[in-house]
Amino acid sequence: MIVRMTSNTSLLTRSLSAVWHPCTQMKRHETLPLVPIARGKGVWLHDLEDRRYLDAVSSWWVNLFGHSEPRINAALTDQLGKLEHVMLAGFTHEPVVQLSERLRELAPNGLGHCFYGSDGASATEIALKMSAHYWRNNGQPEKTQFVSLQNSYHGETLGALSVTDVALFRDAYGPLIRQNATVPSPDWRNAQEGESAEAFALRCAQALDQHLQQHHHEIAAMIIEPLIQGAAGMAMYHPAYLRAARELCTRYGVHLIADEIAVGMGRTGTLFACEQADISPDFLLLSKGITGGYLPLSIVMTTDDIYQAFYADETARGFLHSHSYTGNPLACRAALATLDIFAQDDVLKANRSKTAFLNLIAEPLRTHARVRNFRNTGMVWAFEVESSHADFAQRCFSLGLEQELLLRPMGNTVYFMPPYVITEEEMQLMVTRTLAVINELT
Ligand SMILES: *Cc1c(COP(=O)(O)O)cnc(C)c1O
Repeated sequence: MIVRMTSNTSLLTRSLSAVWHPCTQMKRHETLPLVPIARGKGVWLHDLEDRRYLDAVSSWWVNLFGHSEPRINAALTDQLGKLEHVMLAGFTHEPVVQLSERLRELAPNGLGHCFYGSDGASATEIALKMSAHYWRNNGQPEKTQFVSLQNSYHGETLGALSVTDVALFRDAYGPLIRQNATVPSPDWRNAQEGESAEAFALRCAQALDQHLQQHHHEIAAMIIEPLIQGAAGMAMYHPAYLRAARELCTRYGVHLIADEIAVGMGRTGTLFACEQADISPDFLLLSKGITGGYLPLSIVMTTDDIYQAFYADETARGFLHSHSYTGNPLACRAALATLDIFAQDDVLKANRSKTAFLNLIAEPLRTHARVRNFRNTGMVWAFEVESSHADFAQRCFSLGLEQELLLRPMGNTVYFMPPYVITEEEMQLMVTRTLAVINELT
């Protein structure tokens, strides 16, 4: 039956009728209400009845400087009066050129060429295609395989799923997905008793060495989330693994794709996570925070060596990949405003103090009898909660809302990934209220 909606029908009912929500078993919403958001300011989201929620997950890891940031708003308003969009094939514009130039200055050495996509998964697709196409153009068409870490996440389109190792997202589509190998993750929670994170990382790198030694003839690239495997449950690892991976990929003639979609833009404490291992990948993927959480945009940065392999008289040697909104001027302006804020506010330095402060006040969480593996990298914190509730994540989410908190645990892993503008008072509130939630659940 088709229900005729009137303007009085609540937003929730209308949403459930017309909108298919992402990453959701829709039937759950028979009992779990949607949260209708009317506006946002700083770290706070406000619902239709003006209840507020502290956005402790930066709206799925995209927001950097809070909601409704005046400088990003102003940049977008200015751009709206000039040019909202133009195709990027055969045309160009100031925002996309400026953004490419500025990222080249900021990124690890050698990443001088920017290719644009619309979201994270499309960046993964672009990098995988570009890598295999590079080898084909260079007379090694047999290099078509990819390798990723166990529990990796690189997006959910079919190509990206082939390098994503999260069963829940993959299993239903098994027959549609190409098989690629995974190698052991250096996630330090899997280290042996008494083994340091660094020693464990180096032990995992030996497994990578063996795999590449045997299979490098058919492998185009390794794709990796530097320092933090986000969707694996904020699995953190020692930068020694990245250094080893860089060295091994170079030795065996395999590209290294650094997926910094979630960890880039200051999230790990440096502008790019790769900096902490002092490495340059062959491809660097950016999305999520690149526009401050305003607009969808992704960027694949790559080297002159790769660019030159496509540069020729024959059309077919070129990279003939396109998205309608490639290099959208509004999204590029949001990204430029985001980079301006990093410079104007010395964000990385301010974040170091915030990180230290939160680590200090999080002591009751770290030492909580039911909390395990409390960990931190830059502006990301995570820990596991021992709880007998089968639906822990759901209950934690619901109880969080009652405490004015947007928490979205992954399984039993609770994490904080707040906007960088969070104040000490707001951090205190986030920790105290999270403790209250955990106490109620354990
Ligand atoms: C979110 C994410 C993606 C996918 O980005 P979408 O914009 O959601 O397609 C890819 N890789 C990593 C590491 C991510 O966190």
